Amino acid sequence: MKKIIYNITKFTTTDYKDHLSCVVWFISCNMRCQYCYNPDIVNAKEGNYELKDLYSFLNKRVGLLDSVVLSGGEATNHNLIEICKKITNLGFKIKLDTNGSNPKQLKELLDNFLLDYVAIDFKAPKEKYKTITNLSSYDNFLKSLNILNKSKTKFEVRTTLHNDLLNEEDINEMQTILLQNNYQENFYIQNFLDVENLSNLKVSTKTFDTSKLDNKLNIVWRN
Ligand code: SF4
Repeated sequence: MKKIIYNITKFTTTDYKDHLSCVVWFISCNMRCQYCYNPDIVNAKEGNYELKDLYSFLNKRVGLLDSVVLSGGEATNHNLIEICKKITNLGFKIKLDTNGSNPKQLKELLDNFLLDYVAIDFKAPKEKYKTITNLSSYDNFLKSLNILNKSKTKFEVRTTLHNDLLNEEDINEMQTILLQNNYQENFYIQNFLDVENLSNLKVSTKTFDTSKLDNKLNIVWRN
């Protein structure tokens, strides 16, 4: 069986708020975001663990952890339906981190009540989306957002901000787009950190003036 899991973080309290979780890092991604912090995971053709290793680990964590975070890479590059059913049957909640490029699978997961929380990336407005992600999937992001809006599952929208890639106008446009698509919750923004990344981006010398932001949504800065 193919090893589709790059790594398993055995315990975290920060990836899924108010939960004791492990994180499953799935290999591969259909995007190539310039700032991606996980180039090894994204480029991996094979991981280090099979699914049976995950289930064996989870069997030993019943009663110790309450949830599993599915991350990567892009977890929906893999068929998560059976995986989520097995995790749910063991009694764990599931949080999915996704770039929003696979609305079909997202809908199937939600329709089957297999997700308890979703964090979806809003990478950029349409005109900058492909430059930043190397994938023309802006429309799929919007589809995913609307699928989440219609579901009862809690979710959040988040963006990574690199000042060479997104400016104040972009963030304002993104707020407008979110509102137009009926998203009125917190808009989480994390500043790019100067760590190893996919395209060797460095911290921008441009400033970002938060006073120019519209604050149409409640913006929450994560760092
Ligand atoms: S940051 Fe982009 S390239 Fe990296 S895992 Fe997320 S979606 Fe994929």
